[in-house]
Amino acid sequence: MTTICKKCCSLFLCAVLLCCAFVPAFASDGRCDCGFSPIIYVGPLGCTPIVRDAGTDGEQALWKIDAGFLLSNLKDAMPKLTRAILTRDAQLLADALVQFVCASFGDLALDSDGNSKENVTTPELNVPQEERHGIDCDYYFDYDFRLDPCAHADRLHAFIEQVKTLTGHDSVKLKCSSMGGVVLSAYLNKYGHDGIDVIICRCCPLWGTAVAGEAFCGKLELNPTAITRYGEDAIPFLDTGFADDFIEGSLYALLDVLKGAGLIDGICALGDRIIRSVGDKVFREALIPIFGTLPGIWAFVPESYFADAVQFMGLPAQGGLHDKVFAYRHAMANIAANLQSAREDGVKVCIICGYNVQRTPLVTLWRSTSDGTVDTKYASLGATCGDVKEPLDESYLNAMRERTYLSPDRMIDASTCALADCTWFVRDWLHCNGNAGIDKLFELVMTSGEVSVRAFTAFPQFLEADDDRDTVYPVTGAPDAAQRLKERPSYLNWIRYLFSFLKRFWQSLPRLFQSAQRLHG
Ligand SMILES: [Zn+2]
Repeated sequence: MTTICKKCCSLFLCAVLLCCAFVPAFASDGRCDCGFSPIIYVGPLGCTPIVRDAGTDGEQALWKIDAGFLLSNLKDAMPKLTRAILTRDAQLLADALVQFVCASFGDLALDSDGNSKENVTTPELNVPQEERHGIDCDYYFDYDFRLDPCAHADRLHAFIEQVKTLTGHDSVKLKCSSMGGVVLSAYLNKYGHDGIDVIICRCCPLWGTAVAGEAFCGKLELNPTAITRYGEDAIPFLDTGFADDFIEGSLYALLDVLKGAGLIDGICALGDRIIRSVGDKVFREALIPIFGTLPGIWAFVPESYFADAVQFMGLPAQGGLHDKVFAYRHAMANIAANLQSAREDGVKVCIICGYNVQRTPLVTLWRSTSDGTVDTKYASLGATCGDVKEPLDESYLNAMRERTYLSPDRMIDASTCALADCTWFVRDWLHCNGNAGIDKLFELVMTSGEVSVRAFTAFPQFLEADDDRDTVYPVTGAPDAAQRLKERPSYLNWIRYLFSFLKRFWQSLPRLFQSAQRLHG
């Protein structure tokens, strides 16, 4: 190294040391003046594992459940299952299913006070330790999804205070994903919005989700159209590791051919028959005693289902579990007003939800438009929506006076939302799927002075997710397979176009036939 270089280096080092010497000066009163308050990420369901007999030889992950454990439980139930199928004995089939469900999920159940079994625990939950904060990092708040959301709110409160002390900021930003919105609802209802400057709700079941409502009322239905569409909508998100596009396109074609050939209808009819003959016992002896004891899952039941669900699930009329389930109802009932009041006090609020994805195909309400998991009307706090893949009713559209909040594809009217000016909708966005375009919107929300659906030109109220290019575009009109193929040529999009063309052709056949008859007549 030359002398000049050495001198440069030592000068540089001195400069660095001097700067470092000033850092404590900035922080001497414990304040940080970086201008960006820390982000706390309130995670989704399953943000932390749940384990049985942690630290012993028999340690077993109960959530997320591993395939090996499921397979071994299936193996145990196999003799019964085989006999049931061979002898067409519905009672025996129900027994086998109950055995399998209880062995796999039974230990997740809570007691009548809503507390976990002692040997079923989560590993150490996160405690904020780092001072480092900024747009590129967050503090991850995790929790046991089964437990009382109001108890999570207490922990979140302590967590927020700790982050504030650590970083020297008076406020934090809350970014909530999916079930994180349940924790947020409980938090705002108990602690208000003091010390929070940004709230982001990403695909949150703020008013619940119909899957939970219907399941807790015992309303199950296997609908062939719903199953086919569910598969079609999931296919673009497959990551096969090689020849993605070809495999996705081929699966799409296969699914549509199976549906066309009536095979999926046949499977569903069989499935429905099985559900009718074994459902009652499986509900009574497995699903209700397990999932009916989880206040966390009760928090997903929309208000319109709640009274029926209490009856169907046989929720005890008093006791700890009852109190925990009912305490959250207030939080859910008040979430819209709590967010509104936060916004009035200057908190920047961004609610964002998906639409036009076929929802879980197990429930009678399969037409409700959603992100695949959470209904758009519940995640958006009140949007008026057309059925999935359909525009709003012609009569509804004709009666509309104000169209500022109508989506260009006429599928969503956001004017009925509790916070219409800060609620975004993303077409074809699968529940909580990572998308760099949406992350860009979050950055704007966190750094801009004003947050509203009219504040950012690239992010109007209605967006469309493009998973392949990892971005979003403004919605300009109804979904159009030909347009999509032109803009994003791929084998999958070609197959989609082909089948949409065939479907249209098939649907127009009766009309063609009638015209031909008229001509001849
Ligand atoms: Zn700072």
